[in-house]
Amino acid sequence: MSETAHSVQERQDENLRLTAGEIPRRVAIVTGAARGIGAATARRLAADGMAVAVLDLEAGSCEATVGAIIAAGGHAIAVGADVSRGDQVETAVGTVAAELGPPTVLVNNAGVLRDNLLFKMSEDDWDTVLGVHLRGTFLMSRAVQKHMVDQRFGRIVNLSSSSALGNRGQANYSAAKAGLQGLTKTLAIELGPFGITANAVAPGFIATDMTAATAARIGATFEDFQATVAAQVPVRRIGEPDDVAHTISFLASEGAGYVSGQVIYVAGGPLC
Ligand code: NDP
Repeated sequence: MSETAHSVQERQDENLRLTAGEIPRRVAIVTGAARGIGAATARRLAADGMAVAVLDLEAGSCEATVGAIIAAGGHAIAVGADVSRGDQVETAVGTVAAELGPPTVLVNNAGVLRDNLLFKMSEDDWDTVLGVHLRGTFLMSRAVQKHMVDQRFGRIVNLSSSSALGNRGQANYSAAKAGLQGLTKTLAIELGPFGITANAVAPGFIATDMTAATAARIGATFEDFQATVAAQVPVRRIGEPDDVAHTISFLASEGAGYVSGQVIYVAGGPLC
């Protein structure tokens, strides 16, 4: 066995070693984890004891997240892939399985915005958003499910949004996020017999680069934008990435096996 093959085997063995609770160390993939909600989720799942594949468009952009996990004593690797590209998704999932072991936790978080009113929305705006959110979640889930089925265990968490209920200027995004809720329920039905759950988390306003970009687009400072939104939220604050990561941590946990096909709004209050 070559030195490289040897060290890969050692890593796999280490990852599959039983913990004190007799549960194998789970391998998680978090997409769009270079920053924002994905980065917070990757750090949280690593703190929960999982080995985490930090996936984003460029492997290099994942280094901060991977570095934070390793500095905290966790286990992570960086993986570059465009989730809307089937060939890249298959290669990325194969890399994770070879380096860390079979992935059995998948957080479909990668996202983009191309906001515009309908009459100004281009076909490219539509295709890009549907491609990353909806096609990306389909491709990642299809690639990972075979490992989950083999292991008779899986946790899929998809990032929907309060925009699934409709939001001005987001025909593409709200369609994708509502579509994800239907996809999630179907995955729950199809994969449930194999010990796999699928749930969606639908955040309201969370302070990240994505919402900072929205503030810039409408000509507001991020501080003013956050204050305006916070005043309308029942808990009177905007959300933080860790608020979402905490909910995902629960849904990805061993004990959440009887919660499936659900949409949990993480929005500081009820939404209509
Ligand atoms: P960010 O824009 O901060 O992060 C999104 C990440 O996804 C970026 O690192 C981005 O990479 C990556 N990404 C984009 N396209 C792809 C792709 N094709 N393949 C792989 N990675 C990709 O977003 P947030 O953290 O705010 O949002 C995370 C998720 O939560 C998204 O699905 C979003 O729709 C959802 N959400 C967010 C809310 C919020 O208020 N922030 C509210 C509701 C839902 P790069 O930087 O290179 O573009």
